[in-house]
Amino acid sequence: MDAKSGARERFESARDGLIELSHRIHAHPELGFEEEKASSWLCESLAEAGFSVQRGICELPTAFIARAGSGTLNIGICAEYDCLPGIGHACGHNIIAASAVGAALAAAKVADEVGLTVTVIGTPAEEVGNASGKILELERGAFDGIHAAMMVHPAPFDMLRAKIIAASMFEIHYTGKASHASAFPELGVNAADALTVAQTALGLLRQHIRPTDRIHGIVTNGGSAPNVVPASTSAKFIIRSETLDQLAELRPRVHRCFESGALATGSKLQLAGGDKPYAEMRHHDAMADFYRRNSETLGRPFPNLGEWETRPTGSTDMGNVSLVMPSIHPMIGINSLPAVNHQPEFAAHCVTADADKALADGALAMAWTCIDLAKDSEMRKRLIARQ
Ligand SMILES: [Zn+2]
Ligand SMILES: [Zn+2]
Repeated sequence: MDAKSGARERFESARDGLIELSHRIHAHPELGFEEEKASSWLCESLAEAGFSVQRGICELPTAFIARAGSGTLNIGICAEYDCLPGIGHACGHNIIAASAVGAALAAAKVADEVGLTVTVIGTPAEEVGNASGKILELERGAFDGIHAAMMVHPAPFDMLRAKIIAASMFEIHYTGKASHASAFPELGVNAADALTVAQTALGLLRQHIRPTDRIHGIVTNGGSAPNVVPASTSAKFIIRSETLDQLAELRPRVHRCFESGALATGSKLQLAGGDKPYAEMRHHDAMADFYRRNSETLGRPFPNLGEWETRPTGSTDMGNVSLVMPSIHPMIGINSLPAVNHQPEFAAHCVTADADKALADGALAMAWTCIDLAKDSEMRKRLIARQ
């Protein structure tokens, strides 16, 4: 039996259990860095399959690393498993997690035959927008010794090289002074007005930024009562640009908008976070080509998506990985339209037959891509030489 058939046979024997795992994670959504159940279940599945598993790596209780095989080419498969506040698995990370385990099981079956080490990196908190799992794990050495990395991410439709842009999340706090809003308004310093001024300035700034820049946020504390001048307000904002370089240009302009709120009202401004941003995704062409061919073999072609091919999508900390080592991040379609990521309707789609099929196709296409990389002697040499 050839290596790809061997991997497929191993995947098929695990398929039902992986679908059950995906549905179980979906039914127990956990926020970033709190994914205790999901990370335990993933580690158990990998340990049962013979992987050596280390939990709580990099001082992150819900991060893990699992390894099988002893080949000289070490491929990393990233698993994400956090949910979104209030809307559960509306980004389908249950599918990412189960497909990562499936790919690893299948590739591990033939790892020594093709000279491969298969490493699953459990990467918490992809949705937090700053200092996330992969960024901290990169800093703390979890990716050391890995030659290339991959994952698949669910989306309404298949897209090989989504335009994934850089992003930075930060928190804003204004401190003013409380007072009776009617009897003694002149004694108050209105921290809610500071946010209003800042958001007005941001609205005007939008005319003068790149069309690919994004500024969006929420007010997390707008005050406590209408008859109390708000003494304390908070917000969370995300700014995005095509690249980290462009993001560095946008950042001070956005900060000045928040400073304007403080200046106009006399409130004090504190900014927190934004120090470990998400990088743009650099798709590795040769790896992406292998993945495309494997996906096509499984009956999952990548159609021409017109403007979607060049339009900015979201951001991911896989971008940071892609700046350090050859990486791919194909979007795998779950046939959810009109539902799209980060909608409750999308969450409902992440446990359908289409979602389960995406899990299976993504897992096998990744396992086969690992085999292709291992068996292509030129590619193997190039990947290993990068270290
Ligand atoms: Zn998301
Ligand atoms: Zn996501």
